Amino acid sequence: MNDREKQDPAYSLSWFFSLGVSMNFSELDLIIIGAGPAGISMAVEAINAGICNSKILILEKGEAHAWSIQKFYQEKKQVTANFKGQPAVCHGVMCIEDMNKSETLSYFDQAIKKNNIKVHYQEEVLSMSPTEKGFDIETSENSYQTKTCAIAIGIFGKPKKPDLKISSDIKKQVHFDITSYKFNNEKVLVVGGGDSASEYAQFLVENNNSISFSYRRDNFSRMNDINRDSLLALSTNKKVNIIYNSNIKMLEASPDQKVIVTFEEELPPITVDHVIFALGGTTPQNFLKLIGIKFNGEQPILKNGNETTVKGLYLLGDLAAGKKGGSIISAFNSAVGAMKNICQGQLSCHPVATDNIEKPQKVMGIKTFKQK
Ligand SMILES: Cc1cc2nc3c(=O)[nH]c(=O)nc-3n(C[C@H](O)[C@H](O)[C@H](O)COP(=O)(O)OP(=O)(O)OC[C@H]3O[C@@H](n4cnc5c(N)ncnc54)[C@H](O)[C@@H]3O)c2cc1C
Repeated sequence: MNDREKQDPAYSLSWFFSLGVSMNFSELDLIIIGAGPAGISMAVEAINAGICNSKILILEKGEAHAWSIQKFYQEKKQVTANFKGQPAVCHGVMCIEDMNKSETLSYFDQAIKKNNIKVHYQEEVLSMSPTEKGFDIETSENSYQTKTCAIAIGIFGKPKKPDLKISSDIKKQVHFDITSYKFNNEKVLVVGGGDSASEYAQFLVENNNSISFSYRRDNFSRMNDINRDSLLALSTNKKVNIIYNSNIKMLEASPDQKVIVTFEEELPPITVDHVIFALGGTTPQNFLKLIGIKFNGEQPILKNGNETTVKGLYLLGDLAAGKKGGSIISAFNSAVGAMKNICQGQLSCHPVATDNIEKPQKVMGIKTFKQK
């Protein structure tokens, strides 16, 4: 038995199972798919509600926890607690204040270590099916059985793409995040109207890029005050050229391998080195529908505590946030509701009362969480 198997009964059992040995599989209480803010918060709430950590497993397809944050946040990003203008009010054990990217990641590290949460990295869920006792889950590595399951895979696996034909000669100049290419001293068009779009523009200006910013409306109602004011200040100082009321019609390559952008409106075309779309993500509808979750139009139908139409199966975080979009704190809070529901008859547990929770404390720049 290797180290992982010794520490992790679920792993060793499924390994044993994979050899074809017939035995009574001791099932898990809760499998959480995705180790982002929602998934980690779900495990923390479950442990605080009295579920043994050996009965909880997080399956994460990335190399590390909070993979969307690691991948999509630029290094110097200020992580805001009231993202998209949502109230920074935490209902459960986990909570953040405004902090930087590395502090945010340390907070998640701490939550996993302190609560001894089992996370299997680089293990992608391929399929799952409801059974009489709960769910059978097949991953790239193993098979598991669990009584309840929470899906917290976010929406960034599939960034929202514009309805435009992007020809192969400019594909490398069209981006959906700003971490996969180092922009320096270039002309960049940022497309979007939310906090991410504003933050991308601010970061790119700091790195000596010349920025145009295309937004389809005439005022920024979806940004928090800091991001809106920062973007407008950059526009006043002529560091960002905001093109309001603009919808892109076409992107094409110029003879000198730049991107010519034309608009549906009567606006002059612009020529840039790169275009970045910051349009948010999309719900992985196919994956969810295959499991049997019912949808109302584009949105999954969710009951109390974000339980889906499949009993014992929950959607958390951005997946449950609907059209208004999610934030780290709303992801934390989604787990609190789910845990309350689970403890009402699905598992034997008692959700922690909110008045027993201290506000997060700042310890050497890193927030900690603890109960009274
Ligand atoms: C550029 C940008 C800036 C942002 N800034 C802020 C901010 O300042 N403040 C704020 O509050 N919010 C911010 N947000 C939003 C915030 O990051 C999200 O609301 C939050 O991360 C949602 O958490 P989640 O756990 O639902 O999903 P995610 O954070 O997306 O986590 C999902 C996890 O599931 C994993 N996963 C995906 N598919 C599978 C699978 N099939 N099997 C196993 N694992 C899987 C992913 O690798 C990932 O680790 C920002 C978002 C972006 C894109």
